[in-house]
Amino acid sequence: MEYEYIFGEVRVKPSNAPKFILNGEEVDIWSENLAYYHSRSISEYIRENLLSYEAKGIDPFSEIVGKAVEKEMVKTALMSGSNILFKGKKGYGKTTFSKSILKLLPEKLLAIKGCKIHDDPTHPVCFSCKKKVLEEEKIELVFIPRKWIRIPGDPMMTTRQLIGGISIQKIKEGYDLDHPEVFTPGRVLKAHRGIAYFDELGSIPSALQTLLHELFEERQITTPEGDIVPMKIDTLVISSTNPANYKGVSDIKEPLLDRMEQIDIGPPETAEEEIEIGLRNMSLKTGPIIPDWHLRILANTVRCMRNKNCRYANRIEVEPSCRATIKLFDHVRASAMRKRHEAVMLADYGEKFEVVKLALKSRFEVDYETEVSKDEIISEILNDSIDSVCGSIYSLIPRNVFGEIIEEIARQKIVNVYNGNGTLKTFASSLCKRREELSSAVEITLEAIARCSGLVERCGDGIYVYKAYDRQT
Ligand SMILES: [Zn+2]
Repeated sequence: MEYEYIFGEVRVKPSNAPKFILNGEEVDIWSENLAYYHSRSISEYIRENLLSYEAKGIDPFSEIVGKAVEKEMVKTALMSGSNILFKGKKGYGKTTFSKSILKLLPEKLLAIKGCKIHDDPTHPVCFSCKKKVLEEEKIELVFIPRKWIRIPGDPMMTTRQLIGGISIQKIKEGYDLDHPEVFTPGRVLKAHRGIAYFDELGSIPSALQTLLHELFEERQITTPEGDIVPMKIDTLVISSTNPANYKGVSDIKEPLLDRMEQIDIGPPETAEEEIEIGLRNMSLKTGPIIPDWHLRILANTVRCMRNKNCRYANRIEVEPSCRATIKLFDHVRASAMRKRHEAVMLADYGEKFEVVKLALKSRFEVDYETEVSKDEIISEILNDSIDSVCGSIYSLIPRNVFGEIIEEIARQKIVNVYNGNGTLKTFASSLCKRREELSSAVEITLEAIARCSGLVERCGDGIYVYKAYDRQT
């Protein structure tokens, strides 16, 4: 048995290198066009690329909306070669953040063909590749794309799934080094030369967390037979965790915590950021326009449910995340599409706000003793939000314009927002960014007048009635 393959460290230099074959041709991996793709560690690549982004003044994490302070912390942690722990409730972009770090890795890397963990040809880690580079004359190489391996925090996770299976015993019994009984990498080892993203690290059984610590700190693995095997895998570890008091989440072991920099990821700071995140992540990328007033009403509804000053704050146990905002935008657009609206109208919230309830109900939790139902909470908060946006639109109507609008409505008795004209239409068009929003703008202006002055009343989809007229008939 050749212990060097198992316990030794193997380094390949031009002087002791086999012939390397890439796409059927012999190549010099130290030549200018290939040298970048091997020999360096993941943290070296990340540091180098981060500096080059900074030199160009480009934000490497442009897909993350806002979060300027958190981005700086991530950059500092990465520069100093640290692992990262994102702490925060679900749905605030922990996964998106970890994925955006992936772009700091080279688009591709050179690896030994057939290797289960994509070994670097100059510094193989698995037994089989160590043997190959030392003994074989020709080694075939491939380019592998950059890797982001998600490792779910599963309380039922086994050692084999997480770390993998390694058996020195099987080698002694004469099994080939490539045999699955000798070496089968688990998810962490598959992240070699890439990013390992532990989604809910705290939910991984504590015994396995100890094995992870051994792997990251000592860079070794203890096999089920008790052999200690070096496994110098090179991985950037990014983990996420919910706050400790969150249901069903256990703790992260202290030695592991000590190996990571904690960065808190909270909800978007402003309504503008919330809206931007919603729009960027919608499934329905095209379709009827969602005018600004509807974006604000919907985003503020979600944000109110997170706010300590919300009148239902003490009843809401789990707050809705950005996914609620994203789905709200999707559902109102879907509704507008089905009703053939050019832009979202109030009717797209549903007669009893069913469309809004569809997006929110599964995304927040109330305490069990609460008297009011989720439906009521949603309706009330949405109504408050419509009130507040209507209030701000009402305050935009100049006094003389308001007088003219009311005169117009008094003459017409009934206004259909789709055929609006005159001063009402002129004012409404001042709210619009695009012509297609006009009917929606006329509607929200009338809704604002209805809610703030009581001079008109909504009677069904897009129809408003002059109240004085209503009283006479
Ligand atoms: Zn290998």
